[in-house]
Amino acid sequence: MTLSESPAAPVGEVVLEADGLTKHFPVRRKLSDIFTRKRAVVHAVDDVSFTLRRGRVTALVGESGSGKSTVARLLTQLYPRTSGDIRLHGETTRVRGGRRFREYVSRVQLIFQDPFGSLNPVHTVRYHLTRALKIHGNAGTNDEELEVALAGLLTRVALTPPERYIDKFPHELSGGQRQRVAIARALGADPEALLADEPVSMLDVSIRLGILNLLRDLKERLNLAILYITHDIASARYFADETLVMYAGRMVEGGDSESVTQNPAHPYTRLLIDSAPDPDRIAGIAEASTKDRGNGEPPSLIRPPSGCRFHPRCPHAMPRCSVDLPPRLDVGGEPGHWAACWLYDAQTVAKEGVGSAADPSIPTPPALHAPEEAR
Ligand code: SF4
Repeated sequence: MTLSESPAAPVGEVVLEADGLTKHFPVRRKLSDIFTRKRAVVHAVDDVSFTLRRGRVTALVGESGSGKSTVARLLTQLYPRTSGDIRLHGETTRVRGGRRFREYVSRVQLIFQDPFGSLNPVHTVRYHLTRALKIHGNAGTNDEELEVALAGLLTRVALTPPERYIDKFPHELSGGQRQRVAIARALGADPEALLADEPVSMLDVSIRLGILNLLRDLKERLNLAILYITHDIASARYFADETLVMYAGRMVEGGDSESVTQNPAHPYTRLLIDSAPDPDRIAGIAEASTKDRGNGEPPSLIRPPSGCRFHPRCPHAMPRCSVDLPPRLDVGGEPGHWAACWLYDAQTVAKEGVGSAADPSIPTPPALHAPEEAR
């Protein structure tokens, strides 16, 4: 078994890069489209760029349908990309099945949201883990080595003693235990990057923190690069080093988690934080006006809004917002904190004659509490 604690690679080493990643899904043609030769597409992900580094957790936050899970599937090469690049250790990768796909996924593993659906109910924990170890060449050369590797995986995810769990079927385990088995299976590949797609959203609130603590422990012990996909921005502050916010297929804000969650810059991030459940802030939310919190529903991704995709809902939209796509702009706080919003472009603000992002008329939501503080 090659699963090793704190491999020699330095913390912060770049493992995986998304560069201008774009995915458009074709929509089934209607009869009327056949004559117009139009082919509609869903703009699921547009121009998404970020870097995953060893020993660091990057959170990708957004509401349902924002494109977060599509990004994870693109990174694991389950979907072919429409354009853009995925680089593993600086090398462009595009794999479609076969040996090269297996080699790639042994380094980049995906954990699914649903621990009930991701394990085959007719097979035991032993079967699932043995299969992962064998596929990725980590099962050793004899039965004794395989048993040691299986026990090591279960111990790593705190399912101890291993003999209590190894021959159980998925239905004999709790939701949290199943998710730990799913994580152990991913570790069977001895990956460098772990992509966790809403790993706690289907679990009871009482066991979510345990799974997040396990992932944090793995990040530190195994020096993994982790992408944590979630709609819960409060857990991103607690768990992630860096937080990126997606809206309608585009990234709209990014920076270190403390800055993004405590000093959100983009109006959409402020809306997300305002909507986050936090008993200490209920009074504050009730007092916030609808205008300040933004209105409406996420847009259609078949015909996304022009310019800034948030402009139909944004309480601070200016004429330019519906025309020009805002680039990433420095928000002027912590280094590396950016927002794709014209409020951070001094020339636009002066020309449109509106208050800058620092204007007190643009409210900053009250401080966000980490999950354990909120309970
Ligand atoms: Fe609102 Fe304009 Fe900023 Fe978009 S660019 S978030 S519409 S102010």
